[in-house]
Amino acid sequence: MNWEYVQPVCIIFGNGQIKKLTSEIAKLNGSNGLLVTTAGFVRRGMAARILQLSGGTIKQVYSAVSPNPTVEECDNCASILRDNQCDFVVALGGGSVIDCAKAATTFGLTSCAATDFLGTGKAIPQQHLPIIAMPTTSGTASEVTCVSVLSDHNRGIKSPMNSYGFYPTVAIVDPELTLTVPPHLTATTGFDVLCHAIEAYWSVNHQPVCSTLAVHAAHLALTNLRQAYKHGDDLAARENMAEASVTAGLAFTLPKTTSAHACSYPLTNLLGIAHGEACAMTITHFIRFNANHGCERVTQLAHKLGYEDAEALANAIDGMREDTGMLLDLKSFHLDNTQLEQLIQGSKHPNLRNNPVPVSEQDLREMYESMI
Ligand code: NAD
Repeated sequence: MNWEYVQPVCIIFGNGQIKKLTSEIAKLNGSNGLLVTTAGFVRRGMAARILQLSGGTIKQVYSAVSPNPTVEECDNCASILRDNQCDFVVALGGGSVIDCAKAATTFGLTSCAATDFLGTGKAIPQQHLPIIAMPTTSGTASEVTCVSVLSDHNRGIKSPMNSYGFYPTVAIVDPELTLTVPPHLTATTGFDVLCHAIEAYWSVNHQPVCSTLAVHAAHLALTNLRQAYKHGDDLAARENMAEASVTAGLAFTLPKTTSAHACSYPLTNLLGIAHGEACAMTITHFIRFNANHGCERVTQLAHKLGYEDAEALANAIDGMREDTGMLLDLKSFHLDNTQLEQLIQGSKHPNLRNNPVPVSEQDLREMYESMI
């Protein structure tokens, strides 16, 4: 088996490590920075703390990033970078903030708009400003990936873009930043972690370094998510979920995600289901589907995680979905035939081809019909 592994992001992990921001900005020789964040972090005073830690080197704040960021938000952020000739970016937030910042630091050095690249397959320029990413959710691991997911509502798409230039320079992963994540968001982001790990393990592009990380991350998520959901102030559970998140990110960024993530995009886009919850909607279906179609890696993964077989792993995850208040089916949406068809067609995302067992249109139809 031939494989390659690359990971260019410097990762600083640990409680209280946001204090390292000062020295990391100095290492970049940053003097004219932009903080990308959300209104919530401004309101809770965390943005002010970051400005203080930056010692006056952050001169601008862009806090208008919404969940599932849009191409317009990315373009607005890029304009600030361009107009102020910024030399670095600090991204403080969940995957939405970090994704928006990653694309903006590239497009901000050009006159291009994000929509020119999203879903078009056009080559993304490589030049970019350095980013220090500070994740505040244990979920996407955007701080260590070369992916940026944006939405273009005019074209009705939400899609990932991949570019080596999207890798942040530094990721400061401070689990204390996740203490304020409310229970439902803890669960949705936690299922994103679990899906990253499982899909990385069975992806057709799997390789041993990433698979090892995937098992580690899946084990941590399976044993800590319930506790982090029920007791958000349990720092040990938060720390374990943060470790699961970042190691799952390292696990999936090269093999890429597969079927559950492919289906999550239309589930979010058409029905507004939160990203991780949308991934959780189909992950146990695909565990069973892959196992029933002879995929040995799913059984192998179940064994490595201490389960008798793939069915036992799927049952355990279904139990965790139930206990954490995740949607279990699509009945409450009362989908009509047009919406059902949109879900099926939207799920034929390129990442679906990374699933170890080919998934046909009929397979998708049967899956969604069983959920409505
Ligand atoms: P998010 O960034 O969309 O945040 C969700 C909500 O939680 C927001 O309102 C945010 O302000 C709030 N929030 C974030 N941190 C908080 C905290 N510590 N305390 C209180 N509130 C907080 O959520 P997410 O799940 O981290 O990111 C989802 C986005 O990332 C989606 O667009 C998804 O498609 C994308 N994604 C990206 C990658 C990647 O590799 N780049 C991978 C998976 C998903």
